[in-house]
Order: sequence, then C-alpha cells, then structure tokens
Amino acid sequence: MEFVTKGPEETQNLGRKIAADITGGEIFALTGDLGSGKTTFVQGLAQGLNISKRVISPSFIIMRIYDLGEKKFYHVDLYRLEEKIDTEIANLGLKDVWGKPENIVVIEWAEKIKKLIPKNAKWIKFENLKENERRIIIQ
Ligand code: ADP
Ligand code: MG
Repeated sequence: MEFVTKGPEETQNLGRKIAADITGGEIFALTGDLGSGKTTFVQGLAQGLNISKRVISPSFIIMRIYDLGEKKFYHVDLYRLEEKIDTEIANLGLKDVWGKPENIVVIEWAEKIKKLIPKNAKWIKFENLKENERRIIIQ
C-alpha cells in the first residue's frame, strides 16, 4: 500500500488507522531519512492506542516504553547507534520483547538492524517528497 500525505496531521491519521488493527505482537520496522515522518507516524500509532503521553523521539535513550494496561508499546529509535550495534540491541533485550503477544514494537531506522528484525515484521518506508509531502509505503 502506498500513501502520499500532505502535512504531519495526515501522517498521524495514517498511524491512527494502522493502530486500529493492532491486536498485540506486532513489529513495525520504519525506514527512511531524517525528517521523513517516522516519529510523526509513531505519534499517530500512539494516539490510536490511546496513549495520552506525548510521544517524542527517543533518540537519546534509544527506547521508550508506554504502558497500555495489559499491553506495552515499545518505541525504539536507532538513529544514533553506529558502533557495536548488535551488542546495543542485545543489551536492550529486544529479543525477549518482540514476538510476545502483549508487546507492540515500533523501530525507527530499522534498516540498521535489518538482519535482526523478525520475519513477521511489517516494514514501512518513508520518503521525503516536498516540504510537506511524504510518501509512505506499507509492505
Ligand atoms: P523522522 O522521525 O523520520 O526523522 P519526524 O516525524 O521527526 O521525522 O519529522 C518530520 C517533520 O516533517 C516534522 O517536522 C513534520 O512537521 C514535518 N512534516 C511536514 N510534512 C509532513 C508529512 N506529510 N508527514 C510527516 N511529517 C511532515
Ligand atoms: Mg524520528
């Protein structure tokens, strides 16, 4: 599926729509350049999951966990990870997180750990078109 959004609200709306189908255990692997709308999309996902806390980019701490009651929403951002990436990922304990039905995981810059991402992940590619336009391709 391919979408072109004209402004951040539309990208958030798309995230909200995708969130409506979430049942648990999903892994979303987001790829695309800086400013292509990944975090904006995650904000929409979070809204759709009734997370009231503001979703900000977890760049400096790599991972943020939002409690959904019975489930948990993991927002991972690998932007700043360059070296020893496998070790860092191991330290995050993601292997024990993704795949569990109670966890929903979204990873920005997932291309950095492509080989580690489980096969059942849904890949979503973000592209900068114009200042306010983004192409979003959902696998
Ligand atoms: P990323 O996480 O991919 O680096 P962000 O979501 O943090 O990107 O930033 C996207 C920026 O682009 C925001 O400043 C947002 O307001 C702006 N923007 C403009 N048009 C769009 C659009 N159609 N979709 C998403 N963001 C957009
Ligand atoms: Mg981001």
